[in-house]
Amino acid sequence: YYNDDTTIYFDGKFMKAKDAGTDLYGQSLHYGYSVFEGIKSYSTDQGTQIFKAKEHYERLKRSAELMHIPFDYSADQLTELTYELLDRNGFTDAYIRPLVTCSPNMSLSKGQKSYLSLLAWEWNNGYLADKMKIMTSPFQRPNPKAFKVEAKVGGHYVNSILACQDAKDKGYDEALVLDENGNVAESSGANVFYEKDGVLYTPAKGSILPGITRQTVMEICNELDIPVKETFFKPEEMRGADAGFFCGTAAEIVALDSLDDVPFAKNWENTASRRVQQAYLKLVRVLSL
Ligand code: PMP
Repeated sequence: YYNDDTTIYFDGKFMKAKDAGTDLYGQSLHYGYSVFEGIKSYSTDQGTQIFKAKEHYERLKRSAELMHIPFDYSADQLTELTYELLDRNGFTDAYIRPLVTCSPNMSLSKGQKSYLSLLAWEWNNGYLADKMKIMTSPFQRPNPKAFKVEAKVGGHYVNSILACQDAKDKGYDEALVLDENGNVAESSGANVFYEKDGVLYTPAKGSILPGITRQTVMEICNELDIPVKETFFKPEEMRGADAGFFCGTAAEIVALDSLDDVPFAKNWENTASRRVQQAYLKLVRVLSL
């Protein structure tokens, strides 16, 4: 992720990643009480562009607010700092990880002082599987009555690690995680869609992290006249459907091969999902529908 030359932004200034330290006496390290984002930049005809910067930084601010973490940066300021970070590192296609942590404080009270870190590393999706074999996970999503699940909070990702590692240990690429009612929610780090008879279905909000890519997919569907429904459904309805995909900033749109060893029925190349994937990959590089 970084080497001796990597520059980061931490606590109000740019510095070398190797020189940054953190306070061991903090709520974020001990309790997972932090909020973060995952953002991507792409090289485009108009130079390096951060995809949906405003949406990501508004979600970061909302996450901080929901967690009672004080955080005063505006989305515009954050975007400007991120372009400077990319420029200082000479990055074009990069993954950007903003993180807001709280310290020093070891109590269970609200965050008192927060620190913004902006990290970035070069990225291409070459190493992701083309088509993922996924399994229904025995781990449920965090219950919305126990967590603010629509916020992107560090501690929630312990659940993601458990689900993802369990799937990998069992020989799958990823987990399909259900909500507390047994409905499909999402994967460990991306939203999910399936396709049946030309219609796309995605879990309604409630237990999911409402992804910016998920929203973009729905906008693309409108543009391409592909019907899309937000609804609750069980894994049985998805298993053996025509196609399925995960979507997220990092994953972009990644096709699913099978769910619980039952293959998706249609050749990916002939699906509406494939048209959405192509439109998305074009959009991130031209930045307008
Ligand atoms: N769900 C989870 C649990 C995630 O971690 C992510 C990645 N941020 C997503 C969905 C997709 O969100 P986005 O499209 O905003 O990256």
